[in-house]
Amino acid sequence: MARKSTKPSRSQPAAASVQNRAKPATARAAQQSPQWSPAEVAEAFRRFQAARPEPRGELEHISPFTLLVAVVLSAQATDAGVNKATPALFKLADTPEKMAKLGEARVRDLIKTIGLYRTKAKNLIALSKKLVAEHGGQVPNTREALEALPGVGRKTANVVLNVAFGQPTIAVDTHIFRIGNRTGLAPGRTPLEVEQKLQAVVPEQYKRHAHHWLILHGRYVCLARRPLCGKCLIADLCKWPGKTALKPAA
Ligand code: SF4
Repeated sequence: MARKSTKPSRSQPAAASVQNRAKPATARAAQQSPQWSPAEVAEAFRRFQAARPEPRGELEHISPFTLLVAVVLSAQATDAGVNKATPALFKLADTPEKMAKLGEARVRDLIKTIGLYRTKAKNLIALSKKLVAEHGGQVPNTREALEALPGVGRKTANVVLNVAFGQPTIAVDTHIFRIGNRTGLAPGRTPLEVEQKLQAVVPEQYKRHAHHWLILHGRYVCLARRPLCGKCLIADLCKWPGKTALKPAA
């Protein structure tokens, strides 16, 4: 079966530690940045869409269940690292029934190259058993049911709802948290605040892919340490005082 992709491209630290890594001063500074007008926000996403009409990620999966497993495994790990481990895991266990049957020790062994593998193996077995017992072996399509699964938080639920079920959720990872604050698009002290602000400002027609566009932008252009403002599609719209795009080259 063909593999699908989820989160955009290569290595990506999970959002679990986003809040810890966030610098309050940066967030405060961004919160004082000029606000984006609705027309500017719409223009930014129009450009993102024009540049990449169907953005995709690289967390490999073959079904909603394997997507859920991959996203759980990606917490505080990279997509590339997860993708190295999941082919062998999914070959043996691509359904909750098979995962539960495989057992914690075997799962642990198969994912031992991924950070926090002991806890993740425990969670994968527990969530698989819960899916079988309470959801007929299917991945539920509601936030409440997803977040009730072991090892599944808001960000994981948002990714699954978006990618597997086409819902316009916006999962805020470290890249989106940084972009929201730095650019002034959606400043917030926590990932939830940034998510809520993005939900409030992103036009409806762009919400389905907003998560992927912003992650890609953060991963390849608006980098954490040295943002490539000179190559940025939205440089003229960005409110970050430190942006370099519009300055003449030295
Ligand atoms: S101009 Fe620079 S800081 Fe602003 S969004 Fe683009 S890359 Fe990021």
